[in-house]
Amino acid sequence: MIKTVGILGAGQLARMLAQAGRQMGLDFVFLDPAKDACAAEFGEHICADWDDEAALKKLGQLSDVVTFDFENVPESSASLIESLCPVCPPPRALYKSQDRLREKTMMQDLGIPVAPFHPVSSRPDLVAAVEKIRLPCVLKTRRFGYDGKGQMVLRFQEDMERAWQALGDVDLICEGFVPFDAECSIIAARGKNGQTVFWPLTGNLHREGILAISVAPAFDPQLQVRAETLVQRLLDHLDYTGVMALELFLQDGELLANEFAPRVHNSGHWSIDGARTSQFENHLRAICGLPLGDPQNSSFALMFNLLGEMPEYFNQKFDGQNTIPGVHWHDYHKTPRAGRKIGHVTVTSESETGLRAHAARLAAELGVSAELNLEAVAQAVAKKEI
Ligand code: AMP
Repeated sequence: MIKTVGILGAGQLARMLAQAGRQMGLDFVFLDPAKDACAAEFGEHICADWDDEAALKKLGQLSDVVTFDFENVPESSASLIESLCPVCPPPRALYKSQDRLREKTMMQDLGIPVAPFHPVSSRPDLVAAVEKIRLPCVLKTRRFGYDGKGQMVLRFQEDMERAWQALGDVDLICEGFVPFDAECSIIAARGKNGQTVFWPLTGNLHREGILAISVAPAFDPQLQVRAETLVQRLLDHLDYTGVMALELFLQDGELLANEFAPRVHNSGHWSIDGARTSQFENHLRAICGLPLGDPQNSSFALMFNLLGEMPEYFNQKFDGQNTIPGVHWHDYHKTPRAGRKIGHVTVTSESETGLRAHAARLAAELGVSAELNLEAVAQAVAKKEI
């Protein structure tokens, strides 16, 4: 029986895993080099580097199962722990997700549609890539990119040199630019026995490469089935245990995969308040060998990410004024810093119209700018165009 879960990483994802796991009677131990890691208040914190062998062994010895909240943990660290206790999801999933070329090649081999891509390690490679893919295209670092960092869109020939100067000192991948109608993600949990459940396909809006808003449910059932088929191929191929998120572009009614995350995902945070079972609880159930819970929506849900610092409105929320129904605040207890994900807020409602009205009021209170285009979200919610 599993009593203690070890987590490589002690950021907000680990924190929300531990919050769900405490209710289930689980204890937690984290390994994270950050002294002020925000999950640490929920268990023992081993403060050490990702490749510190003694610390990794300690984590393995203290835990009945180890998982991660961060996909750039070295695969060798996960494998070292595996000699002491089970690691879920499998380190092979980390290995595949850490390099965009490996990831895209695997998806292509599995018949998962992706934008055309070409590896780039030299100027001539870049010229060949642009000739093959054509402009516009996106040049990305193969490793360590996140939230739109380490990537540039090339629209004109003269952008090539600028992009090469900015990114060319590491291995790159050039991808076709997808003029998508919408971005979405399918989150799935697969248990040790292969049982798989899927949350409703979630609509996502990004601002400056960072997730700003997620809304669920947002799409029609045929698209849901298609997305489930695609993520199932990855799960089965990797003989996966735990939660996985697959980020997708929707273009002319077709889904194209962008990337997968071998962990719980920001676009699934709404599931804490808006689904019968959250992604965090089901990840723990999966890695502990327990039956999975029902992922269906318990209400319509929309999540805003909170960046930089908790908004003033949050601090005034207990004054009894301007109360908006169905608002759930999540403060990660992180030190405020520009652009940092420090919390999120989810609005839930029993009806789509209620959700739209309450989300619009909250957006106004939060000062969310019009460019976030709440109308696009509303359309997704109302299943009008996508
Ligand atoms: P990523 O780091 O690959 O998740 O990219 C961050 C965001 O950049 C995505 O959510 C999209 O909004 C945008 N993006 C990434 N790749 C492409 C692409 N090939 N075509 C169009 N937009 C993209």
